[in-house]
Amino acid sequence: MDRSLIDGVKGFLSQEEGETLYELALETCSMGPCLEIGSYCGKSTLWLGWACQERGSVLFAVDHHRGSEEQQKGELFFDAEVWSEADQAVDTFRLFRQAVDRAQLNDTVVPVVAPSTVAARFWSTPLALVFIDGGHTYAAAYNDYACWARHIVPGGYLLIHDIYDSIEEGGQAPHHVFKMALSSGEYEFVGRKGSLGILRRYPAGVFPSDLPEKDY
Ligand code: MG
Repeated sequence: MDRSLIDGVKGFLSQEEGETLYELALETCSMGPCLEIGSYCGKSTLWLGWACQERGSVLFAVDHHRGSEEQQKGELFFDAEVWSEADQAVDTFRLFRQAVDRAQLNDTVVPVVAPSTVAARFWSTPLALVFIDGGHTYAAAYNDYACWARHIVPGGYLLIHDIYDSIEEGGQAPHHVFKMALSSGEYEFVGRKGSLGILRRYPAGVFPSDLPEKDY
């Protein structure tokens, strides 16, 4: 695990958030594979992947690699370095693959190059940790939650990136989904680190009414 590689990978994840992903994956990934939605160029993949590698687990990295809505040409987060002239489309898979290669994670990371909803269609494997960092429209954020959170094992983590308290700080779809997950009664609020929201699926046999109220 060579942490110096992280700075060379494009992405929107802070060091603190990345280290939190690593710690939480390390804690849970013996219970099953981890899965992330929205790998982009692989920053979160490296953090989660290193933890999975250390424990002999696996990370499924779901991304169509054509960039999310705000990363398209002419949009706020467009990056010419991930534009493919040949494809006339965003292509983050090349840089993603390079990052996974350099981090020596090919024995741990399974890239799933497909839209999240398609990858989920016949999915039935229980997951120890799900990290949602895909499209930031309400529809995309909700679909990612609806498709994947239901596979999290009791005691496993649901992590959602880009939680902002106000519209001035950032789009509200991830925060909306975060609150929706909490109101389902299936998750315990663990905390927030930067813009990363951390929820844990209640262990089997623990009812929300048994647990104290918390502010979030
Ligand atoms: Mg993000």
